Order: sequence, then C-alpha cells, then structure tokens
Amino acid sequence: MKISILGTGYVGAVTGACFAELGNDVVFVDIDPAKLDMIRTGRSPIFEPGLDELLAKNLHRISATTDTALAIRETEATFICVGTPSNPDGSIDLQYIAAASEAIGEVLREKESWHTVVMKSTVVSGTTTGIVRRRLEEASGKEAFRDFGLASNPEFLREGSALTDVFSPDRIVMGVEDPRSREVLETLYATFTCPKLVTAIPVAEMIKYVSNAFLATKISFANEIGNLCKTMGIDTAEVFAGVGLDARINPAFFRSGIGFGGSCFPKDVRALIAQAGAAGLPPKILQSVVAVNEEQPLRLVALLKKHLPDLKGKRIGVLGLAFKPDTDDIRESRAIPIIGELRKEGAGVIAYDPLAIAHFRSLFPEITYASSAAEVLECDAVLIITEWKEFEALDYTGKLVIDGRRVPKAAVGSIYEGVCW
Ligand code: NAD
Repeated sequence: MKISILGTGYVGAVTGACFAELGNDVVFVDIDPAKLDMIRTGRSPIFEPGLDELLAKNLHRISATTDTALAIRETEATFICVGTPSNPDGSIDLQYIAAASEAIGEVLREKESWHTVVMKSTVVSGTTTGIVRRRLEEASGKEAFRDFGLASNPEFLREGSALTDVFSPDRIVMGVEDPRSREVLETLYATFTCPKLVTAIPVAEMIKYVSNAFLATKISFANEIGNLCKTMGIDTAEVFAGVGLDARINPAFFRSGIGFGGSCFPKDVRALIAQAGAAGLPPKILQSVVAVNEEQPLRLVALLKKHLPDLKGKRIGVLGLAFKPDTDDIRESRAIPIIGELRKEGAGVIAYDPLAIAHFRSLFPEITYASSAAEVLECDAVLIITEWKEFEALDYTGKLVIDGRRVPKAAVGSIYEGVCW
C-alpha cells in the first residue's frame, strides 16, 4: 500500500519505517525540512535503537517531502502523527492536529480516489470524530465515511524499544466507522498475530488514554508505597515482587523511584484530568497520581540535604538527564525539577548523560556538562536520575550517592540512600 506519514517525529519516523519494512511505500511529511533530509539519507531524525538501519534498509520504498499535497495525492492513506502537547491548564493542545486536518482536507477537495485518514497521534476521545472530521469536511467539501475514510489507530510504542513494540505489540486497536477504512487497517496489519481490537473511534482513543493513565497510576502507587516502606525499613522491591506475582495484578511498572517523565504519561494524564474536569467529574485518583509524581523527584533533593544540609557552593553530580535509558528524549525528565531545585539551593551542578546532553543544554545552559560518567563521581555527592546501563559499571566506593532509580552497584562501598529503599 502507499501511505503517507504526517509528522516525522518519534512516532511518525518509527511508524513509517516499520510500514516500509512490511513492504509498503511510505512518504514522510514534516514542516521541518532538516528531519526529512535525514530520512532521505536513511538516517533517523530521532535516536531510537535500530531505526537508522531499518530506514537505510528500506530506502527504496521511502520518500520525504514538505509538500503535504503531493504526499496525499500519491498515497492511499495518511497517518497523522503530529504532536499533541499540553495547554497551560493541562488540557490537550490540538493546534497541530487542526492544522494537519485542514491541510489534508484541502488536498482531498481535488483528489478523486478514496483516501483514508488515520489518527495515530494521542488525542482525547471525541477528537477524531469532532474537530478532525469537521476540519477535514470543511476544507474538502466532502463527507467523512462516505467520500473519504477516517479512523483511529493509537500507538503504544515505548521510546527505546519502539521497533520491538511496533512489530510485536500486545494488541492493535483499530477505531473504525466505515468498511473501507477498516479494510485499509486490516490490510496494513494483516501479518500481525496479536489480538486486534476493532472498536468505534472514540473507544479506540479512550483505550490509549486509559492505558497510559493506568500505567502512570501504577507508578505513583508504587512510589507512595515505596516512601512508606523506606520509613519502615522494608524493601519495597521485595514487596512489589510479591504483589506482582498475583496474575490479576502483573509486575510491570511497579519500580519505585523518582517518578515518570517523558512525552506521554505526564501530558496524557493531565489531558484526561482536564477532559474529566470539563465533564464535571474531576478525577481524584488521577489528580493524586500527578501530585505524587511531582513530589517524588524533590524527595531525592530532600534526602541529599539530610547528608549535606547546606547545598550552597557544593558540587552535585547528576547521572542521567534523559527521561529514561536508551533515548535522548528529555521531555518532562525528572532531571528538570531536580536540577531546578539544586540551582535554587545554590549548588553547582555537573551532569552527564550518554545521549541527552545536547537537548538538556538548551534548558540549562549554565550548568557544567561532563564528558564521562566517571567525571561526575568527583563531586561532593552524586544523584542517579536515569538508570543507564553504563552507570552499573562505575566504582562508587566512598562516594555519597542518592539513587532515584535503584542501580545496585551504586550501593557497593558508598554512603548510599535510595529514594524509596
Ligand atoms: P514529535 O514532537 O516527536 O513529532 C511531531 C512531528 O510533527 C514534528 O516533527 C513536527 O515538526 C511535525 N509536525 C507538526 N505539525 C505538522 C504538520 N502540520 N505537518 C507535518 N508535520 C507536522 O511527537 P511524537 O513524540 O512523535 O508524538 C506524536 C504523537 O504520538 C503525540 O500525540 C504523542 O502523544 C503520541 N505518542 C507518542 C509516543 C512517544 O513515545 N513519543 C508514543 C505513543 C504515542
């Protein structure tokens, strides 16, 4: 099939490369020509293990353009993969979705053959059949489900293991209302053997939000229990190992620590809170999930101050800036509030991350960036923010270490505190 990808960021680049690997012709579109230049030479515009190789291998099936009209004219289906950030009040900012829908609609006005528009971006339930449909219909002068297809196909990939997640998903969700859009998605995913759930479009959108909100809830729950376990001298990891063995519960996302960051959980939970609030149902559980998550990184600084009460003029080493290992993504990284707090306390910060320094420098140009993890160990204290594998190989002997992610080696021979253990 010939498909176009509107928005060549994390999700767009991965989705397009994977569809190309499955034998489809893929046209990548973005408003940022630099990303497309990279795609054209078989390089990924984002860091994701294996993605460069996949793009290079399928380059003969891939093209890239800033010309949305050209991409839509030449393809049968378009996946919308643009960003859906938060408004200041936490609600979803749909400006990129609206602009993309309008741009597609304008091309559909002239296009004679059937075209299916698939929403892959994470959007609150009701968006695709609401503002997206409206913008498409107004700009095209045509009617959705009759003159062109419209569907939802939410993405569940995790950065760092995106290719495995796309090729071996737990499930594929297809929100469809017309048979031709259903056929498009079923054809694209024909070789997948995982459960495929066909639902109404608003249901598919809601499945994505509820999945993220539940995973975020598990993390904040594990952190709240972890805080309690620490005061009782109980190992929270042992507790959750036992809890997770219950088949009704499952062990995933029970690692206590300094909380969740990234481009999805924080913004998606906030968007669901805003949507529920607008419906007159402010969700108490989800509000607490966010509150616990905001406090958790500051606990690391409070623990540090137990050992070094006055941080003014102290050199504090920070290991890890990415929101999790194997990515250069720093969106909502827990390193941001922690370093902000250290700066407020007057500490000098020396930070290291294998991939994320370039991104982080634009947020905190005034701190020092080390060229190796070992350099960070020379500081008065070391904070572990991201559990990169290479931090397991360091010698922490004699150092003051406050660990937010439970790197076992860091406890060997050091003055050691874990945030929840
Ligand atoms: P991103 O910011 O990395 O990429 C978005 C891209 O869209 C950017 O390259 C931007 O330049 C481009 N863009 C914006 N407007 C455009 C337009 N009108 N035409 C063409 N391109 C345009 O975002 P992302 O992380 O890939 O997320 C995209 C969506 O997928 C979001 O809704 C997000 O919540 C969801 N999602 C993300 C992940 C993840 O791990 N990153 C996982 C699942 C779902």
